[in-house]
Amino acid sequence: MSSWKDVVKRGVVLSKPVYAAQIALYQAYMDLPAPALFTAMNRDTWEIHCELVPFDAPLAQRMSDRAVQVVQASIAQELLPRAAAERTSVVCRGGKTAGGWHSPCSWQDRCWGTCR
Ligand code: SF4
Repeated sequence: MSSWKDVVKRGVVLSKPVYAAQIALYQAYMDLPAPALFTAMNRDTWEIHCELVPFDAPLAQRMSDRAVQVVQASIAQELLPRAAAERTSVVCRGGKTAGGWHSPCSWQDRCWGTCR
């Protein structure tokens, strides 16, 4: 199933969890309205998908806590564990898993480089 069909069928929260986390954080800390209006456009057909996304306070808190953990580790110059054991993992190279669609990670070269 294409990314477009997936978001239309299942909605942004299930299909695009990174976007859902971003929306929740914006709603919690940047006064984004709740529900938020999420829109997506199919660049092949110009179809537009719109949906209302209610505020998910526990998700916003989990993502905020995770950000604090990253900042604190960075200040302490600690390396946090990677999200995957292998660079060939779907979360790194991109693709579909049972948990949804993953875009290829933009940080692969840095993450799997020789500096670790
Ligand atoms: S390549 Fe990206 S997704 Fe994979 S572990 Fe590193 S930072 Fe995480």
